[in-house]
Amino acid sequence: MLYVVGVGVCKGHLTRKAIELIKNADVVYGSKRALKLAEDYIVCEKRVMKYSDDEYRRIEKESKDKNVVILSTGDPMVSGLGTKFNGSIEPGISSVQVALVKLGVDLCDVVVVDAHAKKPENLNELLRFRHLLILADRKFDISIFGDRGVYLMENLCMENEKVVCDKAVGLEVRSDYTIVFVRR
Ligand code: SAH
Repeated sequence: MLYVVGVGVCKGHLTRKAIELIKNADVVYGSKRALKLAEDYIVCEKRVMKYSDDEYRRIEKESKDKNVVILSTGDPMVSGLGTKFNGSIEPGISSVQVALVKLGVDLCDVVVVDAHAKKPENLNELLRFRHLLILADRKFDISIFGDRGVYLMENLCMENEKVVCDKAVGLEVRSDYTIVFVRR
């Protein structure tokens, strides 16, 4: 069996179900960060995963006669590994949810946009309808929002967590773990 299991973004985010799946695994794959978040519950071999389609298909074959758990940071269905594998998916708490809680904003009032290693278009257009919550990395050009006030939420739940609120112009995204929030 193959399970893609969300590990959340902060220590303590794993659900009981996720813990059970991890404890019953024969092998656990994940990024260094995901493996660290789940380390208390991994009792089998752990492997740092390579992010390529060939690797995903190889792991799927491996899961034919083993219990394989793929750890996905946050939630597997928020720009995560959930769509990459043919298997069963266990949800986790996303950085999106952690950011919304800090902002006091409801998910239904925002558009979530993935700008992690991508360049989405027409972001200022979307602001006509909803607040924007952007999954960003250091390549994201925040200056497109000009004089608007934005929140940069960096490294949530890490020791260097920082939230900055200022005019977009003059700011820059300094961490690959950044959520950008722009009020409509
Ligand atoms: N599945 C993950 C998202 C993976 S995409 C989740 O549910 O959180 C990677 C993007 O997620 C990063 O570019 C960043 O925008 C966001 N992200 C992940 N962890 C973060 C954290 N601890 N703090 C701030 N943003 C984070």
